Amino acid sequence: MDQKFQVIIIGAGAAGLMCAITAAKRGRQVLVIDHANKVGKKILMSGGGRCNFTNYSIEPENFLCNNPHFCKSALSRYNQWQFIELVEEYGIEYYDKGLGQLFCKNSSKDIRDLLVDECRKNGVIIQLKTSVEKIEALAGSSGFKLVTSLAEFSCTSLVVATGGLSIPTMGATGFGYDIARQFGHHIIATGPALTPLIFDKKWLEKTSQLPGNAIDVQVSCNGQRFSEAMLFTHKGLSGPAILQISSYWQPGQPILIDLLPGLDVAAWLQENKQARAEIQLKTLLSTKFSQSIAEYLCSEIGMNCKLKQIEVNELNKIEQRLTRWTLYPAGYEGYRVAEVTLGGIDTDEISSKTFESVKQNNLYFIGEVLDVTGHLGGYNFQWAWASGHAAGSVV
Ligand SMILES: Cc1cc2nc3c(=O)[nH]c(=O)nc-3n(C[C@H](O)[C@H](O)[C@H](O)COP(=O)(O)OP(=O)(O)OC[C@H]3O[C@@H](n4cnc5c(N)ncnc54)[C@H](O)[C@@H]3O)c2cc1C
Repeated sequence: MDQKFQVIIIGAGAAGLMCAITAAKRGRQVLVIDHANKVGKKILMSGGGRCNFTNYSIEPENFLCNNPHFCKSALSRYNQWQFIELVEEYGIEYYDKGLGQLFCKNSSKDIRDLLVDECRKNGVIIQLKTSVEKIEALAGSSGFKLVTSLAEFSCTSLVVATGGLSIPTMGATGFGYDIARQFGHHIIATGPALTPLIFDKKWLEKTSQLPGNAIDVQVSCNGQRFSEAMLFTHKGLSGPAILQISSYWQPGQPILIDLLPGLDVAAWLQENKQARAEIQLKTLLSTKFSQSIAEYLCSEIGMNCKLKQIEVNELNKIEQRLTRWTLYPAGYEGYRVAEVTLGGIDTDEISSKTFESVKQNNLYFIGEVLDVTGHLGGYNFQWAWASGHAAGSVV
């Protein structure tokens, strides 16, 4: 005999838990199954341990998706203010780290515990350390039978909230894509996103003095630009600006870096050439960058002389180097460290209102498993809350 539930959700992460709470509040009997040994592992490790749980400003432009309109409905029906209200109800202290990014003051555990507490209060059953071995659609679209490592279950509505491929050691698998394929869905090619970029050997040697240096830059690629910090690492580049652009960069393409965003660099160089003709270029650059970066830039530009010795056409070359530094990263650091997965289940085959599959009645996909990827800054969790809430309102 199998155990019957109205709703079964596979995945006890951000989206799955929000969906479970919303459905249980409507009186649905809900079972959440996860193969991990803990609920919400990614929530716990998110935001450097402080969970950037949403952002004051959430716009559809903050999300990548083959269909840019897909995310609008859910994001407007469960917005950042509703999640902030829930956080405040629980007395969780938070702060704006800048750019509207809201982080817990204390720990990510506060958010995870809030979700677990809401599940408990509303009678959601969570079954951990359980893997799903087989899913079968019952005749006449009347629901599903699940064979798991623990027991057999059946349900009317099945929600897949298994997330993306990033950080496999945290329990990430491609299982959600396998379920989607089983029911005839198309998957948009996946790849790591919000991930550091690596240099090849030649560039690593060139920049060997720079790891640890961080600069505020504007980085652009494929028509997107981000003004945030960039960090040199022992493997290449990281920091928020690089994580953001990694979602848009394709191997083989250049990224363009403005090392002095907001400054009229041509005028700055000209003024200094006139007013401080006797100083070295390196000394001038040290007023804007660390010593090691200033030295590196001088060697790259191939000039180590006084400003008065620099010709006007050479000033243009320096300006170009400082504002349009063109770099060819060798690759992504990959799923091991990527925060999210680009691509996923094609949203053209999912209802943007209910998240139900157009291929199979009563089958729902929510969260990161879909082809929706947020920018860095709390957008991915807001997507999990919003899509989980939308499906939880109808299952
Ligand atoms: C290091 C790191 C830091 C991050 N920080 C932030 C941040 O501060 N702000 C932000 O907005 N986003 C952040 N993210 C992204 C965010 O964590 C995800 O976008 C979000 O967790 C996706 O929610 P989800 O519920 O769709 O998937 P997940 O949270 O990944 O949950 C999926 C669940 O499904 C389970 N599962 C997977 N496969 C199976 C299977 N075969 N059987 C059973 N269960 C399965 C997993 O164990 C997991 O519990 C971060 C990500 C990482 C990796």
